[in-house]
Formats: sequence, C-alpha cells, structure tokens
Amino acid sequence: MMFSYDFKILIDGKLTRPVRGGLMDVINPSDNTVFTTVPRCTAEDVDLAVKAAQSAARQWKNTYIGERAEMLFRLADIVRSHSEELSALETAQYGGPISKTRNFDIKFVPGELEFIAGLGRAATGMTISADPDARVMTVREPLGVVGLISPWNFPLVTAVSKLAPALIMGNTVVMKPASCAPVTVLKLGEYIVEAGIPAGVVNIVTGPGPEVGEAIVTHPGVDKINFTGDSSVGKRILSLAAPRVMPIAAELGGKNAMIVLDDANLDAAVEGAVYAAFFNSGQNCGSPSRFYVQAGIYDEFVPRFVKASSKIIVGDPMDKNTMMGPLAYMKCRETAEAYIAGAKRAGCRVLLGGAPPSDPYLARGAFVLPTIFEVYDNKTELMQEEIFAPVVGVMKIASPEDAPELVNDCRYGLSASVWTSDYRLGMLLIERLKVGTAWINQHLAIVPETPWGGRKESGWTKENSVLVLDEYCYHKHIWIHMSETPRTFWEERIKL
Ligand code: NDP
Repeated sequence: MMFSYDFKILIDGKLTRPVRGGLMDVINPSDNTVFTTVPRCTAEDVDLAVKAAQSAARQWKNTYIGERAEMLFRLADIVRSHSEELSALETAQYGGPISKTRNFDIKFVPGELEFIAGLGRAATGMTISADPDARVMTVREPLGVVGLISPWNFPLVTAVSKLAPALIMGNTVVMKPASCAPVTVLKLGEYIVEAGIPAGVVNIVTGPGPEVGEAIVTHPGVDKINFTGDSSVGKRILSLAAPRVMPIAAELGGKNAMIVLDDANLDAAVEGAVYAAFFNSGQNCGSPSRFYVQAGIYDEFVPRFVKASSKIIVGDPMDKNTMMGPLAYMKCRETAEAYIAGAKRAGCRVLLGGAPPSDPYLARGAFVLPTIFEVYDNKTELMQEEIFAPVVGVMKIASPEDAPELVNDCRYGLSASVWTSDYRLGMLLIERLKVGTAWINQHLAIVPETPWGGRKESGWTKENSVLVLDEYCYHKHIWIHMSETPRTFWEERIKL
C-alpha cells in the first residue's frame, strides 16, 4: 500500500523541496511495489546544504558543549516519542522485521544520542611536559563541515551514530541516507527542527549516490566525509577525496568468520550461529558468513545449525513473529541468487535453502531463504566475497591452528568470533586475527560503549565508544613559551 506523506529535505533549518523539485520512489521490498516517494536532490541542493553548514559552523562551534548536549537529549526524547511510527517506517522501507526495528533500532537511536552527548562533555585534551619554560597542550577543534553518507541496513542507527558525535564535537553536517531507505532520516530532519538545533547545523539531502553523494564528496566546502557502505564505493570516495587530501572515515564491507572448536558449548554455538548469521536477513556488516568448524564437533554442530536455521520464520516483516524479512531491494536478491548459483558451480554442497522461495507471497518480494553450503575450498567466492544476504558457507578444519590463516586469507577484516571453553586458546587465536572486533562465545554484540570498525578492505574508522570522538575533531598542539628571556628552542638544544 502506498504511504502518502510529503517528505522534505532539510536545508538551513527549513524543511523544503529540492531546487528542481524532483522525486524518487522508495520500493517496499516485501512486494516490490512503490511504498512512497521522497525528494530527489541534485548537486544544486548539495551546494545550498554545504553553504548553510558553513554559515552555521562558527556559531555552533562556539556554542557551549552543554547546550549542544541538551539539544541532543531533546532530540532523543522526540525520537522516543515517535518510536512506533519510526519502527514501522524503518520496516516498510527496507524490510527489517518489526521485532528488530522496534526492539533494537529505535531503542538504540535515542540511547546513542544520549550516550554520545554525555561522552562529548567528558572529552579532554592533553598537557605535555615538553619544556620547563613552556606550557604545552592539545585542544580539540571541530573539523568544520562533515559529509555523512550512510547505508540502508540500519538506516537510522548508522545515520545517528555519525550525526551525534559530529554535532557534539562542534561540527555542522550534510547528511545523505541510502536511496532505498531514506524515510526515517528525513523524519529525523523534522525532529531536528523541533529539538531547536539551529538552522544550518544539520542539513539532509536525498538522491542517488553517484550524483548527490559525489557532489558532497567533491564539494570544496566539505572538510571530511564519514562514509559507511560497500568497499568498492569506499574506494571510489577515497579516489575523489585524494586530490584535496580530504580525510575520509570509512566503515566498509565485511566477510566475517565464526570459528567453532571441539570444546565449544554446542547449544550456545548453534544458537549464536543462527542468530548472528541470519539476524536482519544476514544484512549486517558484522554477520558471520563463513564458518570454520573443527572436525571433532563438525558432525554434531552442522546438522544442528541446519535444523535450527530451517525453523526461522521468513515472511511479512510487519508481523511481530517474523524472524527474517526480505532483503532491502530486488537487486540484492538477484545478487544473492547469483552467488548461490556460483557456489553450486564451484562444487559447494547445499545443506539448506539454495532455491528461490516457492511460497507466492515470498516469491513476489526480495526474499532469500536461509541458505547454508558445505564448502571445501576457502578460495571459493562464497568464502571470500561479501554477499550481504542469508547465505553462508561451512568448512571443516582439522585443528584450531588452521583457523587464523583461513580467516586472514580474505581482503576484509571486520570481525570474527571463536567458540571454545578454553579462553586462553581463544585469546591466542584472536591475537592472530586481522580483524577490528573479535568475540569469544559471542557474535554481533555491539553497543554504543564498544568501538566498531575494521581493518584491511573493511576500512579503518571507529564508530561508537570514546574512540568515535577522535573521528570528528582535530587535536591542535599548542606550545606557549613562558620565559621572559627570549630564546629559540634550538638555541637550547643545539649549542651552535
Ligand atoms: P553502498 O556503498 O551502496 O551505499 C552506501 C551509501 O553511499 C548510500 O547512501 C549510497 O547512496 C552512497 N553512495 C553510493 N555510491 C556513491 C558514490 N559514488 N559517492 C558517494 N556516495 C555514494 O552500501 P549499501 O547501502 O548497499 O550498504 C551495504 C554495505 O554497507 C555493505 O557493504 C556493508 O558491509 C556496509 N556496511 C558496513 C558497516 C561497517 O560498520 N563496516 C556497517 C553497515 C554497512 P545510494 O543509496 O543513493 O546509492
């Protein structure tokens, strides 16, 4: 059913329409029909947004941080008061089950705003004992105008995880959500006005990445880009930013591993595998999609993993009992099906799924059923490429020692987990994994307090935790020579 609402972009404190008045469709992935329309901006709108952000920058930077924090707290309250509406919109636009958007996304967002607002107020600089005649320190300074470009898999969560630290550290922003799921970020624009955040501090534009996203990246008034998305898009953004040597924060793709050792608690490992692999239909940058299972537990773990996964309820994401909805749009389903076909051609054995859904409701939408392959070669595409769908490979390993090499033999380095009763062994293995996050007997545990970000082609930026503040400020080093006697530093050190 078409959702009729006049979504507006936010520029210079005004909820408005693009200069050229364009619109674009947002498709409901459950039935592949138009869900609603949203503004389709062009580079002209980006220019207005950046100029508004530049004009607001000085005043925002000089606003007492406690006041900035209060505005973020107000925004959190407003988001909370709209949680039912926001979770329904989130589910409708990208297909995440309502149980997930209601209980995770829309609870995470105000929590993140409040956490970061408080955290920012505790940010400090350093004093350094560099010279008895000097007082040496670092002070944090905002970057200026930051472009925030976010993906669709956690549309509001990812956008707010960038917005909150950018604002608390005194930056102004131009945000661009993903085109297939922009609706909740546009609603956020309305709440930003209501929260009293001054005009120009937050600007929101919508439109295709190659046009509107690139207009943000290449705009000379933008001082940094914080991007989350696919690694290939990240590389494109890096190349666009290179001529200006503009800093880029990049949270990119993942091909995450789960290592299950012989001494693992089988119940916990099976439950953890099902949840982490298929939560949000596997569309999580941190979801495990390659499993390395030790020979002694393989014949018990794999059938139980397959059986438990076969019980996942796939269906209408608005139904509170649904555990897996559709993928975000039809192209994602086509991509997943191509990888499934490729895995079959490569000789991987289907243990579960692997065929399009026969149910007429599911067949119409972007649904992919939980799919598990047995894999014999770590070099197969299935074990190397990010599929971003509920499609995983399971491979038998002889010894725990085999795991680090197999995990590291991949261009991504986002996350991995080890399932074992031997924490010492688990820790020793983790120390050899080239990933940003590693868990023991857990996977996909992410809270505002913990840093998130990868290595290798998964990017290098940290989101969340105290570390995120450094992504949104410069540490300026200041040296004050205090002595009445004028002398150069080098006179002392090098007796010329
Ligand atoms: P995309 O890279 O396709 O898109 C992300 C954002 O970038 C969207 O807003 C998109 O706009 C925009 N964009 C696309 N092309 C350009 C361009 N040339 N210049 C500037 N901006 C552009 O990612 P998805 O939305 O498909 O999200 C899934 C990806 O995100 C996966 O690879 C996943 O692993 C990754 N991800 C990583 C996380 C991490 O923490 N490491 C967390 C979450 C997701 P438009 O939608 O209009 O194309």
